[in-house]
Formats: sequence, structure tokens, C-alpha cells
Amino acid sequence: MLNADTVVQWIERAAEVIEENEKTLTELDAAIGDSDHGANMARGFSAVRGKLTAHPRDDIGAILKMVGMTLLSTVGGASGPLYGTLFLEAAKISAGKPEIDRVVILQSLAAGLAGIQKRGKAEPLDKTMVDALGPAIRAFEGAEGVSLAEALAQAAEAARLGAEATIPLVARKGRASYLGERSAGHQDPGATSMWLLLQSLAEAGAE
Ligand code: ADP
Ligand code: MG
Repeated sequence: MLNADTVVQWIERAAEVIEENEKTLTELDAAIGDSDHGANMARGFSAVRGKLTAHPRDDIGAILKMVGMTLLSTVGGASGPLYGTLFLEAAKISAGKPEIDRVVILQSLAAGLAGIQKRGKAEPLDKTMVDALGPAIRAFEGAEGVSLAEALAQAAEAARLGAEATIPLVARKGRASYLGERSAGHQDPGATSMWLLLQSLAEAGAE
């Protein structure tokens, strides 16, 4: 089970990790985009962190909804609405729940991915955040006979590999797609930030 305190720890950890990696995300976006992904994500998670301290901790759905609404209104770019959708869709699944089990975690991640794909129309291998989240969900679902902490760790590892695997891809969605073949040879910034979020979840889940 993941309880609301762990979800709060996840988001706090995510905010730290995004801040630590702001420069990396900016550099990745400089190569195939407009150099704002690090700043976009750092601004969003800093706003989230500001609201987290005073937020009630009895309803995971309410926490995720706050995160989604805040990211939606502060991140900007293409990634803001997509990350907002991820958290808002997950929030619907965990609405009213003080703790969530593996089935609900899987449903929440899957609903988030479906929301991202509905909104952004990206398919696997289009070189987007979908290429980190999709493999992570499959790994989480396939991680049978291991603890929840281990399943989350396997999901994070799959996200890392998925983000790395965007390097040779030609972007077919978002700003990077304007570069055509020249987008190949660079890791996608959004897939990288998605991996960081899932890595933070695994770290929170391990405690
Ligand atoms: P912008 O591209 O508007 O500057 P960001 O730099 O914040 O926005 O985010 C770029 C990231 O957003 C990309 O690396 C990619 O992962 C993700 N992205 C862009 N468009 C889409 C889309 N249609 N579907 C999924 N992810 C997308
Ligand atoms: Mg950008």
C-alpha cells in the first residue's frame, strides 16, 4: 500500500530532483527544442511544493488533483498541460482514498498515460514522455511476486531505459518534430523528466 504521506514524500522528492536536474533538462531541450523544459518543470514543482505543506493528507486524490491543477497553471509549454493531465487523471482514480494498493496504482498510472495520449496524440516511439511512462507501466504490471517497493523500482528503471532509448529516435510530436531527422541523437527532455518523477516515486515507496 502507498499512503497519503508517502505520496506527499514522492512529490517533495520529485520537486527536489527536478530542481537538481533543471540544468540537465534545459540542456536536453536546448538540443531539440527551445531550452525551457528545465525552467518550466522547476517553476511548476516549486509552486506545487509551496502548496503541499498546508495540504490535508487524508485523500490521495485531492493531493494529486492539487498537483495536476498547479502544474497545469504554472509549467506552460507543451509539457504543462500533459503533466497536468497525468496527475488529474490519476487523481480521479484515487479520489477519496487515504491509501492505494498496487491495482489502484497501476490504474492511476494507466489513466494518466491514456490522458496524455488523448491530449497529445503521441504514440510510442514518437520521442516523447510517453516513451518513459509506457515502459514503466508495463514493467510495474509485469513485476509479479516482488514487493511494491521493488515493483516501483523496476518501473523507474524501465522509464530510465525508455528515456535513453529516445536518443536515436526522430521526433514526431512537439517542438522537436520541427527538426525532423536532426532530432535524432538527443535524449528527449520530457521522457527524461518523466523518468525523474518515477524515480522519485520509487525512492518514496522504498522508505
Ligand atoms: P515546449 O516543447 O512547448 O517548449 P517543454 O519544453 O516544457 O514544452 O516540453 C517538451 C517535452 O514535452 C518534450 O520533450 C516531449 O517529451 C513532451 N511533448 C511535447 N509534445 C508532446 C505530445 N504531443 N505528446 C506527449 N509529449 C509531448
Ligand atoms: Mg521547450
